[in-house]
Order: sequence, then structure tokens, then C-alpha cells
Amino acid sequence: MVLPLQFSQISKIPLELVVILFIVGFILYYISLPLRKKRRKEREAAKEKYKEEQKLERIERYKLQIESRENRKKIRRQQLKSRLIPSFLYPKKYRNFWNDNYSKKTNPAPENLKNELYFERANQRCEWCEEWVDTPEIHHIVPRFEGGKNTAENLIVLCPNCHRKADRGILSKSKLEYKLKRQAEKRSTISEQP
Ligand SMILES: [Zn+2]
Repeated sequence: MVLPLQFSQISKIPLELVVILFIVGFILYYISLPLRKKRRKEREAAKEKYKEEQKLERIERYKLQIESRENRKKIRRQQLKSRLIPSFLYPKKYRNFWNDNYSKKTNPAPENLKNELYFERANQRCEWCEEWVDTPEIHHIVPRFEGGKNTAENLIVLCPNCHRKADRGILSKSKLEYKLKRQAEKRSTISEQP
């Protein structure tokens, strides 16, 4: 039977050994102090950075909201004008605003085409940044109000982030078209290989 350390045994441990162990422990503690300080500082800096990024992101989101709200307001104002003001009072330039911008508008892309593009062509990834997305957004390269058609060549699967950029014109039509073309080429070369 193994008994736990008993008092008589503890008293047999030489005092010098205890003192040496104690001193060694103390020295190790002091050596590790600056290292731990450094690590703590690094952790704090990372936290600060994260907070800053979050703040910037929030500001960005807020700006976008305001922008889209103002755009909507502007469009609504123009719609109202075009409907309420008689055409003889209204400059010719604006007379066909409604017709030009709304009658040509194509319907939203059909759900099955969206799914096909997302699962088959894009492989559940954003076709611009190639990140994996589970909330895909289908973007019309030529916008719907300009008569952009619901064809595979005019539609691109984007993540919400890239979609926002595309809608604001940061990602130009030509860039998106080029990217689609290149990906099509890539796919064809892959399928040609045995
Ligand atoms: Zn993306």
C-alpha cells in the first residue's frame, strides 16, 4: 500500500533542497517577467486593432446605408416629378425618365438559373474574390434597369461584400466581364485535360 507523504517523511527532506528549489523558482519567475509583459502588450495591441477595424467597418456600413437611402429618395423624387408635372411644363430631357428607366427593366433572374450558376459554375464561391459564400448574391453586369438580360454571361455570383462594391461601381462592368471570361477559359482548359 502506498501511503501519502507523511509528516515524518517531510521533515526528512533537507532544508537546503527546499531553499534551493525556492530560489530557482524565484529566478525563473523573474526571467519570465519581461516575456510575459511583452505577450500581454501584444495581446492588448491585437485587441485594440480589432476594435479599430470594427469601428471602421461600422462607419463604412453606416455610410453605405445613408448613400443608398439618398439614392432611393432621389429616384422617388424624380418618379414623382415625371408623373405629376404635365409634359408641356416638363423639359423634354426628363419627359421619358419613367419610360427609359422603368419600362425596360428586366425581371429578376429566375431562381433555378441562380441556383445553377451558384452550384455549377461558381462552385459555391464568389466569382470575384473566390471566397466561399453561403449567402450568394446574383449581380447583373449590365443592370436590369438598363435592360440587362438574365443570361449566364450577364450574371455573376458575388458575395455580399463584392456585390456592394459592384453596385457602387467600384468593380467596373468590364472588370467583371473579363473575370467571367477568364474563368470560363480556365474551366474549358480543365475539362479538356484527360
Ligand atoms: Zn467576393
